[in-house]
Parts: sequence; C-alpha cells; structure tokens
Amino acid sequence: MSSSRNTRTKAVSVDVVVVGAGFAGLSAADRLVSMGKSVLVLEGRDRVGGRSFSGEVAGVRVDLGATWVSRRHTAIRDLASRAGCTLTAQFAEGRNVLWMAGRRRTYQGTIPKVSPAVLVDMARVQLALNKLVASIDVEAAWNSPQASEFDAISFGEWLDRKHATPATRAMMTIVSKVQWGCSPGDVSLLHALRYIRAVGGVDHMLDVEGGQQQERYVETTQEIAKRVAEQLGDRVVLGTPVRRIAQDENGVTVSTDSEEITAKYAIVTVATPQRAEIEFSPALPEQAAGLAKNWRMGILSKAFVAYEKPFWRANGLSGEGLTDTGTVFITFDVSPEAGGPGILMTFCDPRVFDGFSPERRRSMVLEQLVQLYGTQAGAPIDYLDHCWGEEPFAPGGPNPTVGPYATTTYGPALTEPHGRVHWAGTETAGEWAGCMNGAVLTGQRAAERIAAAVARESQEVLAR
Ligand SMILES: Cc1cc2nc3c(=O)[nH]c(=O)nc-3n(C[C@H](O)[C@H](O)[C@H](O)COP(=O)(O)OP(=O)(O)OC[C@H]3O[C@@H](n4cnc5c(N)ncnc54)[C@H](O)[C@@H]3O)c2cc1C
Repeated sequence: MSSSRNTRTKAVSVDVVVVGAGFAGLSAADRLVSMGKSVLVLEGRDRVGGRSFSGEVAGVRVDLGATWVSRRHTAIRDLASRAGCTLTAQFAEGRNVLWMAGRRRTYQGTIPKVSPAVLVDMARVQLALNKLVASIDVEAAWNSPQASEFDAISFGEWLDRKHATPATRAMMTIVSKVQWGCSPGDVSLLHALRYIRAVGGVDHMLDVEGGQQQERYVETTQEIAKRVAEQLGDRVVLGTPVRRIAQDENGVTVSTDSEEITAKYAIVTVATPQRAEIEFSPALPEQAAGLAKNWRMGILSKAFVAYEKPFWRANGLSGEGLTDTGTVFITFDVSPEAGGPGILMTFCDPRVFDGFSPERRRSMVLEQLVQLYGTQAGAPIDYLDHCWGEEPFAPGGPNPTVGPYATTTYGPALTEPHGRVHWAGTETAGEWAGCMNGAVLTGQRAAERIAAAVARESQEVLAR
C-alpha cells in the first residue's frame, strides 16, 4: 500500500481504476489481478476496510464496524481463509437479558418470552413479514409484484396497520436500528423487505446459532482487508479521494487532488450517497443522480466495555441483551476467552449518543449495563466507542436509510453501468446486500464483467 501524498506524482495508466478499498474494491482488484489485468485502487481514507474497522480495548482487537459472518457467507469466508484469518463462535451460552417497559427479565433463545400474548403477537407479525419477504425479487426488488404498494409506506406504517403490540414494535425498532441505522418510520417497507430477503429471511437475520451472528473473526474483519491489500501492494493507494471521473469512447480519466489516472474502465464501490461526491463527465443520468441524492446512509454507533473477566457468564448469562430505553439497545459478549478480559459490545442509538462528550457517552453506556448485568458492570477496566456518523470521510453505516418511493424510483440505477463506469459495493448486491459477503460478491462480479468487456474490445481491435 502507498500514500499518494508523497510517493505518487507521475501520470499513470492501467486497465482498471477501482474507487474505494472496502471489501468490494479489494475483491474487485484481487479478481482483476488474478486475471492478469493492471489495477489501481484509490481509497479516500488513510486506511483500508471501509465499514470494517478495528479498535483496541483492554489490549484486545475489536470490530468497530462489521463483525459477524454466517455459514452461508461463503465469499467473505473464502477471502478470509485465503488471508489466514480465523473464525470464533459468537458466545451464546446461558440466558439473555431483556430490559423492557422498565422491567428486567431473562430468557433463552432469539425472541424474548415476555408473555404468551406477546410471543403470539411477535410470531404473527414475523409470519406476515416473512410472507411479504418471500414475494421480493432479490436481484431487482423494484420489479417485485407489489413493489409500488410496498414502497408507498414505511416499515413503521406497516407495523401500525398490523396493529403490532408495543413489545413487537420495540423488537422491530431494534431490528431497524441495527439494519438500516434508523427507526421503522424512516425506512420504506420495500427497502426493508429487500434487505431482509437479501440476508436470508427474518430468522437468519436475527439468529446467532445458524444465523447471521454465528461467527466472528479473531483477528477482526478489518485485518482480512489489510491482508488482501498487502497482497495487492502498491496497487492500493490510501488518502486519495477520487474527485472526478471523465470518459470518452476510449477510456476513463480519474482525477484525484494530485494526479490524473487513465484507464479502460472504472469500478466505483463507494456507498450510494458518496457517489454524489464525485463529479462525472458526462454527468450521471437523472435516475442515477437521484439515487445518489436520495439513498442516504443510516447511522449506528458502537461501544465496547471491558472487565477483568466476563463476570455475567458466572451468573448464567450469555451477555446478549436487548433494551427498549436509553442509548444502548443491544449487547453481545465478544470476550476473547473465559479467563478474561470480559468484553461487552453494545450497539448505541446515535441520536442519543453521538452528540455527547466521550465521558458522558461512557457514563450513559455504563448506567444501562448496570441495569442489565448488575453493579459489577459499573466497574470496567477499559472503554472504547465509535460513532460512524461522525467519520470525517464517507460517514454513516451500516446501510442506507431509504425512505418511501426511493426504491422504485431510483433502485434500477444501482447497478446500471454509466458507460465505462461500473458499480459495485454491498448496496448493489442482490443476495447478501448489506453484508461483507455482498460486498465481496459485487466486487468479483464487476471485475468479471469488465475483464469480459476488455477481452471483447481487444478482439474487435484485432478483427479490424
Ligand atoms: C456498525 C456496523 C456494523 C456492521 N456489522 C456487520 C456484520 O456484523 N456483518 C456484515 O457482514 N456486515 C456488517 N456491516 C456492513 C459491512 O461493513 C458492509 O456491508 C461492507 O463492509 C461494505 O463494503 P463495501 O466495500 O461495499 O463498502 P465500504 O466498506 O463502505 O467501502 C467503500 C470505500 O470507498 C471509500 N470511498 C468513498 N468515497 C470515495 C472517493 N470519492 N474516493 C476514494 N474512496 C472513496 C470509503 O472510504 C470506503 O473505504 C456493518 C457495518 C457497520 C457500519
């Protein structure tokens, strides 16, 4: 990897320029190099990994962004395995904790057994949701049979129409905050259904055992990206935001603050709103420009609290907790081993978190952990948090918050190439959109399409 600021000054020409060094960009470059193409990956941040980023708490590397993989996430698992990264099971032994309507309870399994009536209602709403999810065309949700109807209302309005009880609604609000970084009222029903379908349905989305939260990487997910980038060497250039992409019938010219790179094609892997930060010449068609403006990123924050030992395990608790009040809404045990340190990873609602000082954020998190896990939770040995909405470059995550009408209006532009500019990135995936797995698949797909196009053009030149 190199930094543009001091080492790259000359004009460069390659087969393909890749914009962004998250999993989509790195996978595209990795695949193109394996097919003998010359590539340059330009990354705006001073690090690789994008929405995969590591931090350290009590001397343990932790995932500030993407964490888990399911057994079905074969593309990211293959990449990680080639990079020599190792999986560990998400700890899930014991009872989970629930803080709802001011009361603490413990329960076993994914769905809190609050009362028989609540269980029945959650099962009813989940069944209805799964029925709608099954009707979604995962590759083109906007072409699904009832797409217009589903895109005209928010997920929250649908819950109202279903007369979801407050407990069911609280559960679905947690789902919405984790998946789309917003409340159910801010996201279109169609967008929600598309993402649930993409990640294998409601059960697979929520479960630890056999679901999306089954395993995580000991070395962290950003380490996978770092190792892939190391293999790509000087082909990955950090601290180099792409400002402009111009094209004609012969190729593209990609401009950064300090240089112009010419290539036959470009693959842009940035998240949808960040497409709007790049000037395209010729300009993007109306629908593609509308997509970049209207598919804004959601926001999610995370805090990690470390203790001498995972003390909750001795009390028969898994470290998995759900709450419907305050800033923390989910907790998980991400301790490296039983002997310590014990680490609780918490998801925090940015609206009641990001604006406060680091000290205030820490005390808010600790107060809620004491509610869930008792007084021992008030005496940590270390603390770390990360507010994705406050990132100075490419802020937000995990996924776009797409409101009513924006999926049917702009969705078709997600993957439609703009001449010699192709799109990748997890948002452009069908199956596994929103996951690292989707990002890897889209990078590989774009690489293969471009390699085929380059081969076709070479044959045409020879035939002349
Ligand atoms: C808090 C959080 C938790 C998550 N949890 C999980 C999880 O448990 N499991 C899972 O599978 N996924 C999870 N995700 C989602 C996962 O991180 C993403 O799906 C995946 O990493 C996206 O990869 P990508 O390459 O498509 O995009 P990104 O990772 O966003 O990469 C795009 C890159 O483009 C760069 N860029 C933007 N604009 C420019 C420009 N103009 N010039 C140059 N570079 C530019 C950005 O800096 C970024 O590095 C989580 C995400 C977050 C934020």
